[in-house]
Amino acid sequence: MRGNQPCIFTGLPDRQDDDCACPDKAFVLTFKEPASCENDCACPDHGLTLTYKTNKPGRFAQARDIHSITLPAGFHLAFSPFAPAGPSILNHTAWQRWLSFSTPQPLSEKIDQDLAQQMLIYPAGYLPHPQPTQPTQPHTLTAWLHITNACSLDCPYCYVRKSSARMSLATGRGAIDALFISAQEHGFKRVKLKYAGGEATLHFRLVRSLHHYALEKANQTGLELREVVLSNGIHLQAEDAAWLAANQMKLMISIDGVGELHNQLRPLKNRAGTDTFALVQNTVDQVLLPRGIRPDVTMTVTALNAHGAADVARWAMIDRDLPTSFNFYRQNLLSASHTELQLEQQALIDGMLAAYAVIEANLPTRPFLDGLLDRVQTEAHAHTCGVGQSYVVISHTGRVAQCQMYLDEPHNPPLANDLLPLISHGAIQNPAVDSKLGCQSCEFRYRCAGGCPLETYRATGRWDVQSPNCHIYKTLYPAALRLEGLRLMKVHGYWH
Ligand code: SF4
Ligand code: SF4
Repeated sequence: MRGNQPCIFTGLPDRQDDDCACPDKAFVLTFKEPASCENDCACPDHGLTLTYKTNKPGRFAQARDIHSITLPAGFHLAFSPFAPAGPSILNHTAWQRWLSFSTPQPLSEKIDQDLAQQMLIYPAGYLPHPQPTQPTQPHTLTAWLHITNACSLDCPYCYVRKSSARMSLATGRGAIDALFISAQEHGFKRVKLKYAGGEATLHFRLVRSLHHYALEKANQTGLELREVVLSNGIHLQAEDAAWLAANQMKLMISIDGVGELHNQLRPLKNRAGTDTFALVQNTVDQVLLPRGIRPDVTMTVTALNAHGAADVARWAMIDRDLPTSFNFYRQNLLSASHTELQLEQQALIDGMLAAYAVIEANLPTRPFLDGLLDRVQTEAHAHTCGVGQSYVVISHTGRVAQCQMYLDEPHNPPLANDLLPLISHGAIQNPAVDSKLGCQSCEFRYRCAGGCPLETYRATGRWDVQSPNCHIYKTLYPAALRLEGLRLMKVHGYWH
């Protein structure tokens, strides 16, 4: 205890947090480094640089569009749209100090620097200048490698036109060559391969061969390599798991409910009634976890299974401590007849709030905010995904698409040495959120970024407007932020 002397308490890794562990001092809890959670799409990793243009800031004032939430034990969550990462948690003294900036004044207390760093205050009369037209160079060139069209499951919302077709080793190598050439040419620091399909593990030998080839390329170029296998979790054998562990390859498994709900939504092809959930659970509990593999779990949330999100949260996040993401179903041409799968907003909101209640009752300390809401990321960013900039989809025949939803487009170009022009001039537009009608003054614009551009276009015929899921985002994100606030309090010993 150090009396009432103001001090700062943050979760930033370079801060001396232990200085300030007394609740009657002013302090701010923040979280800087979100834990990424795998899903089908490609999150951009080029966080925005938000700056204010002044060398002599003089007086500071409260930032615009702050979202605040009252937390237990006298804490407040304050979230600035311009914050580099997550929300800040202020104790009573810090909150009072922040409130005092309703009247512009110089930075005079130690805590003021942290309030400024979190963009809760900035120079009076100035606005932060995000740089949507000059985004920071992305670090990662991400590629969906479409290993095969084949899959043992027959999920009603799947966007893959099923067949036995698979990628050849030559095509896969050609794709990897092009990716590393493109990454070098355009200044990326790493290449990330997503082995996908269909069910990529049906051709595990090909995945292994491509991994070794990609590793050679990474060694030759000096670029970092990251990889993940996207799987339905049915076929993985012990030797596959051992290989994944030995090669430090990530694994993402889809679970759309617990028990019968998963069975209904992810049935075996031609063998309806099979307990596919039991198969996946066996893979996780008997094959993966004993070998130290903690798969990322992703749930595709629809009106049909939203009521099961709480069970998935308990099964994956609470009982097994697995990174988990909840993603909304997206309409696509192959599933257009399944009208029952279209999002019904209230069912989805209710389902996700029930999942959040489960998480709150068993609050993990491991970061989880990035997975709590479809496409919403903790780190500030201007584009929802890497489409058009840093995301390449390569079909099993070596055709290049902008998004996995566009795999089958007949005009998709063939592989070329430089892939970036092919993805930047495709049919999908992915504008920055600052140019989307309805998003410009939203508190959550640099986390949501306006939602999936394809989903917006399908619903509205326009690329430059807010997401059709906007109401869902605006309802659920404050609840997700509140959970993050409680988690930070728990990490620092102020919540149970
Ligand atoms: S879609 Fe809605 S929640 Fe998302 S940035 Fe736009 S206005 Fe905000
Ligand atoms: S366009 Fe939509 S579906 Fe495609 S990668 Fe982006 S967010 Fe995902």
